[in-house]
Amino acid sequence: MTEQTTCDVSHDPATCTCKQCRKAELAAALPYFTGSTELHKSFLGLYYTDGIRYLAEKAGAYWLIDLIASHQPRVRQTLLRIEERDFQLWILKRLPKTCKADWKIEAWTDTPGSDCSVKLTQQVIPYSDFPLDEFQCYVVDGTMMLKTEY
Ligand SMILES: [Zn+2]
Repeated sequence: MTEQTTCDVSHDPATCTCKQCRKAELAAALPYFTGSTELHKSFLGLYYTDGIRYLAEKAGAYWLIDLIASHQPRVRQTLLRIEERDFQLWILKRLPKTCKADWKIEAWTDTPGSDCSVKLTQQVIPYSDFPLDEFQCYVVDGTMMLKTEY
């Protein structure tokens, strides 16, 4: 995906590819994904929904699917010991500008801060032009999905 740092004349979210318009378009479209008609399979074997595919295409974020897929063997092993279900909450967060890395990503068994939630894994991401400031999704029984698609 080519990235412009300045807007074209129209600054229309439908055609403009600047960062601000991509962010606005994504944020507006994601809530409409409420169920997936089909599942797609990443090369590491993790399945993902139409909503995740939309995000990956619009945000150039197939790396996010691959990153989450790469953690699956170890995360599932941990889950097997502490939970009876394969349910993972993944949280991607932009770090403050003072940090060396751009982003961190964490996986939890439940909302962080709730009594029984356990952190399953975490990783820092040195650089990414991911357009949103924060993104959360689930992995349930081997399928990555938007929270609205659960
Ligand atoms: Zn624009």
